[in-house]
Amino acid sequence: MSDLAIERKIDRSKMEVSDEVAIQINDMNKWYGTFHVLRDINLTVNKGERIVIAGPSGSGKSTMIRCINRLEEHQAGDIIVDGIELTNDLKNIDKIRSEVGMCFQHFNLFPHLTILENCTLAPIWVRKTPKKEAIETAMHFLEKVKIPDQANKYPGQLSGGQQQRVAIARSLCMKPRIMLFDEPTSALDPEMIKEVLDTMIELAEEGMTMLCVTHEMGFARQVANRVIFMDQGQIVEQNEPEEFFNNPKSERTKLFLSQIL
Ligand code: ADP
Ligand code: MG
Repeated sequence: MSDLAIERKIDRSKMEVSDEVAIQINDMNKWYGTFHVLRDINLTVNKGERIVIAGPSGSGKSTMIRCINRLEEHQAGDIIVDGIELTNDLKNIDKIRSEVGMCFQHFNLFPHLTILENCTLAPIWVRKTPKKEAIETAMHFLEKVKIPDQANKYPGQLSGGQQQRVAIARSLCMKPRIMLFDEPTSALDPEMIKEVLDTMIELAEEGMTMLCVTHEMGFARQVANRVIFMDQGQIVEQNEPEEFFNNPKSERTKLFLSQIL
């Protein structure tokens, strides 16, 4: 785990949090078979919030954020995303997935498609966007992540950091209102972590609502407005970064911080 100094000057004044709710989770529980993986999760995320989710391996961080776009199904409680409740209703699941972008540790790009094709595939086939418009949008976001010159290459020809930036651009092409990140820098060499974090910082500065599972505590300190600590399937503690790092309340949080900082 690294605590990279983020050299980029971060303008927190642009990162406004509104009082409108983006995600509401009430008394949510989830089991994998008989294993009770998430216990009584209650969480309200307002639009524009940048939340970092921290916690030991196996504490349920991935499972929790995967429930938000129904990559995993919860068994009890409610999850409401942008006013739409996640139930078995496939229409609602589709609507929510179209609002929520996700970026994983492994980039999951299609290896046999070019960078540009990776970015236009879902807009063309899922959103029915005309091809020309999809290409323009894709180029716009590839410029944003600073790799427009790689558009006609294949994922295997790019570095890990570049591939992860493509994965972020690809998500943005679907115009999500919320972005979920699950350890987006964990598979990267140290020199590539920063370029991916920079991309995430820019998104934050543009007001994107973000939930990020990450071990980058430098990012958490500087970009997050709230840090959530999970352990054994529960949200143990949450606070603004300053308080979270300097004045942790629970013993479990203190132990975790002592191990990573
Ligand atoms: P984290 O992301 O915090 O490391 P996860 O959400 O991946 O934690 O996993 C939480 C717990 O659930 C772990 O004990 C893990 O082994 C278990 N788990 C994860 N996915 C599955 C699955 N598909 N089936 C059964 N158990 C799982
Ligand atoms: Mg995980």
